[in-house]
Amino acid sequence: MAVLEILKYPDPRLKDVAAEVSGFNASLWALVRDLEETMRAGPGGVGIAAPQVGHLQRIVIVDVSSKPKIKQHGRLVLINPEILEWEGMGKGREGCMSVPDYTGNVIRAKTIKLRAQDEQGEKHVYDMEGFEARAVQHEIDHLDGLLFLDRLVSRRNDLFARKAYK
Ligand SMILES: [Zn+2]
Repeated sequence: MAVLEILKYPDPRLKDVAAEVSGFNASLWALVRDLEETMRAGPGGVGIAAPQVGHLQRIVIVDVSSKPKIKQHGRLVLINPEILEWEGMGKGREGCMSVPDYTGNVIRAKTIKLRAQDEQGEKHVYDMEGFEARAVQHEIDHLDGLLFLDRLVSRRNDLFARKAYK
């Protein structure tokens, strides 16, 4: 197991599109373990995507269970995730381990229906809402080379410098 180095904006590798995962094997599981350890080592880490550590594969981990009062599924390993349905729009503040010096307001769907494979390749469908749905949309953006900075409502009014990542 290892804590991997997080690529930081404006690293050009964060703009690349990640490839589908086809091998559900020991090398995938090792990468998932390292990704999870890296996410948990980071401050405020509720999600991570493989491209953030330089692996261009469609792998996301999300765990918003540190916020117990919201509807959520706990720890999720999402391989080849795909949003099937979106509903509602809401603006919310986001941060990112790859953009440590800023937070920003981004509009996301309030509820989503998500299909993803687990570490064994098994397909699951999840109905998600609120903060969990936002976290998943944020992480899937990383698979497509997008950062929250690309989705700011307004650069002037919706980008905030932060002194320390909390
Ligand atoms: Zn991020």
